[in-house]
Amino acid sequence: MNNEKIPFNWPHMTGKELYYIAESHFNGALAGDGPFTKRCHEWLERQTGCTRALLTHSCTAALEMTALLLNISPGDEIIMPSYTFVSTANAFVLRGGVPVFVDIRSDTLNIDESLLEGAITPRTKAIVVVHYAGVACEMDTIMSIAKRHRLKIVEDAAQGVRAFYKGRALGGIGDLGAFSFHETKNVISGEGGALLVNDPDYLQRAEIIREKGTDRSRFFRGQVDKYTWQEVGSSFLPGELIAAFLWAQLEETEKITRERLVSWQRYHDLLAPLEESGFIRRPIVPDECQHNGHIYYVLLNSDIERGKLLAKFRSLNIGVLFHYVPLHSSPAGLRYGRVHGGMAVTDEQSARLVRLPLWIGLTAAQQDNVVEILATATK
Ligand SMILES: *Cc1c(COP(=O)(O)O)cnc(C)c1O
Repeated sequence: MNNEKIPFNWPHMTGKELYYIAESHFNGALAGDGPFTKRCHEWLERQTGCTRALLTHSCTAALEMTALLLNISPGDEIIMPSYTFVSTANAFVLRGGVPVFVDIRSDTLNIDESLLEGAITPRTKAIVVVHYAGVACEMDTIMSIAKRHRLKIVEDAAQGVRAFYKGRALGGIGDLGAFSFHETKNVISGEGGALLVNDPDYLQRAEIIREKGTDRSRFFRGQVDKYTWQEVGSSFLPGELIAAFLWAQLEETEKITRERLVSWQRYHDLLAPLEESGFIRRPIVPDECQHNGHIYYVLLNSDIERGKLLAKFRSLNIGVLFHYVPLHSSPAGLRYGRVHGGMAVTDEQSARLVRLPLWIGLTAAQQDNVVEILATATK
């Protein structure tokens, strides 16, 4: 049990998880791609409009599948933000790819689309966009750059379940997308994820790569009479118990999102005065983006000492955290990646950012408490 006074995160259970797991147990269906996995796939396809959704054991695994699907080979360059989780880069480095880090926009903290064309070289294969906090990247611009330069777009939509850009579901816009159902995300299965195949050309290979490099999926559909090793793959699919758990969550995704957005908005309203007096900057959500209340963060005024403020919250047992140490400045990022242009915005914003507790069940009184401490500590 977490004994923090106000934890940063508290996994939300819908109440049906164990019921569906019991159903799997009684059916004796435990391996992957059983009835619950099929239900999850159909839901994800309906919700995102993707050609095919495939559950994976994590978003990391889904991203690794995208690197295999794009045939990333040693020396290939993949443009991405540095302000992201390690898996965005790792997936490509595993195949010998070179992450090319570009700076982020100061408003959304998403990759700065105006810097992309300058970062393209003859070795560039793909652009990986990360929708930070479930707020979409400027996808129309990014998609048209990709089209002009014949590059593929992978959406790291780990934080983007049930968030939209101009009405289109995140993860369903690029050639390939990846969701996370990790315990810290909005919709969860402990560990879990999904690959979203939007470009139908990748459909067959995606199934093969996910099933240890075999055409087992086609075999089960009766499309081939035996299954064989077709290409390099691995075991990327989760077992049915995870899918059963996830199904209980997917059924409630709308409600989960709605409730998170209420808490998000409450912070946003409470913190307006602190922004007006110049102590913090609140998140900026462009009009075309419908976010999902995944993260509430504030950017501290640059003369506020973040370390001291975080220590204050820690001493009170309240989960207030910073976020990514930019990849370009990390030991592996320095070894495997390279930077294109300056990283001024990434360096500045990542050093100013703090994330506030946000979970279903967080009370108004707890939020008031967090805001009050933040106000005292920043003034
Ligand atoms: C959480 C997260 C991941 C990794 O998700 P897992 O399901 O834990 O592998 C990747 N990218 C981003 C942006 C994330 O937030």
